Amino acid sequence: MESEMVLPGDFLGTSEEYILGDGVYDDEGNLYALYIGDVSISDKRVISVVPKVETPPVIKDGDVVIGQIGDIKDTVAVVSIACVEGKENREIAAVNQGIIHISNVRNGYVNELRQEFGYLDVVKAKVIDAKALRLSTEGKEFGVVRAICAKCKGTLKRKEGDTLSCDICERVETRNLSDDYGTCLV
Ligand code: ZN
Repeated sequence: MESEMVLPGDFLGTSEEYILGDGVYDDEGNLYALYIGDVSISDKRVISVVPKVETPPVIKDGDVVIGQIGDIKDTVAVVSIACVEGKENREIAAVNQGIIHISNVRNGYVNELRQEFGYLDVVKAKVIDAKALRLSTEGKEFGVVRAICAKCKGTLKRKEGDTLSCDICERVETRNLSDDYGTCLV
């Protein structure tokens, strides 16, 4: 195995030496790289170029992340983290399921997690333990930034406090709302 960075059009070898893999093209028996990446040669002499992508941001303690509620259990809400604030155009590394424990939802006692978050809500949260991807929505700017009506799937509008209502079906729901509710472009 060898690994070497190449640019598009770089000569990699000949079709007598290698079998054509991904990211490689054959021009009259000469093999060239199709894109920027690292050369990879398998045991069976298949040569390919593994594309170089921008290094994903590493999530750190104190980072602010935007994510979507994927599941709500009795004591935790599971968040699929979509991006790190300030690095929105970069994808996140593979592991991106954060959790908000019921004790980190707000400053104060939470009785029922399902009154704080709804399925598929978009939330803004602070990373309090990057290793375990534990998140917190304590503080005014954190919490739900977009919520969906459980009945008709319309976007809920903020009324007052933590109360939301649906323009379409007039359903009223409550959430742990961020001050940025409705202003966030996600
Ligand atoms: Zn509705």
